[in-house]
Amino acid sequence: MAATERLYLDSIQSGYYTDFNAHVEAVEGDVITLDRTLFYPLGGGQNWDTGTLEGPNGIIEVHEVRGRSTILHKVDANHTLSVGDEVRGSINWERRHAHMRMHTAQHLVSGVVYELFDGVRTVGNQIHHDRSRIDFTPVSFTQDMLDEVTHQVNSLIDAKHEVTDSTMTRQQVNGRMPPERTNMDLLPASVTELRVVQIGEDLDLCPCAGTHVQNLSEIGHIAIIGKKSKGKGTQRVTYELQIPNVTPQPFHELV
Ligand SMILES: [Zn+2]
Repeated sequence: MAATERLYLDSIQSGYYTDFNAHVEAVEGDVITLDRTLFYPLGGGQNWDTGTLEGPNGIIEVHEVRGRSTILHKVDANHTLSVGDEVRGSINWERRHAHMRMHTAQHLVSGVVYELFDGVRTVGNQIHHDRSRIDFTPVSFTQDMLDEVTHQVNSLIDAKHEVTDSTMTRQQVNGRMPPERTNMDLLPASVTELRVVQIGEDLDLCPCAGTHVQNLSEIGHIAIIGKKSKGKGTQRVTYELQIPNVTPQPFHELV
């Protein structure tokens, strides 16, 4: 099946759009494929967007979004969409923005832990709207260490650094960050160019296809609420975010 045009990936700013037009390309039971979409599918640790699709016969809910190249939207089972229909998609902004804040916070926490504790690596992450978790190795966090991470991350957030994206070659990324920090050493050799998300001038650089905030001030402060051993020197850290004072409005224009 044809690859879906991923409208959320054009730039950091694309993450702020909520509404788009598209055509139905395929229907299989309650799973709809579109030619283009703003819905983020589960991937890179980040959970999917929810929202609605408005077709010729009304509005249906999008419950689950999966897929890498072809993106599959799981909708209400009683939908009446058919191939060729024009739809207007609308994503749930509160959930999307929470994922953007959580995901950018994850990059910050991973970078700070790597720098503070001699190259401790991030080996997994799960980004949800209400709480997120990161797996680190090799490490055994004390409360003092977690307090130091929290303090450093919140100081960076208070400094209101910008977040930008660009396309770089492998060599460019590796020239600016250790491959163990960006996990570039785990990337298949076939990947030569990647989308990278950058915080500040050189605070963090990470290959990533997730959605992110444009400025760290949108994150609000983080609070680490738990740690758990996952065995073999790996620890899972769970965090929540406080709601910042100013929350941006989404761009409501159609994409
Ligand atoms: Zn990421």
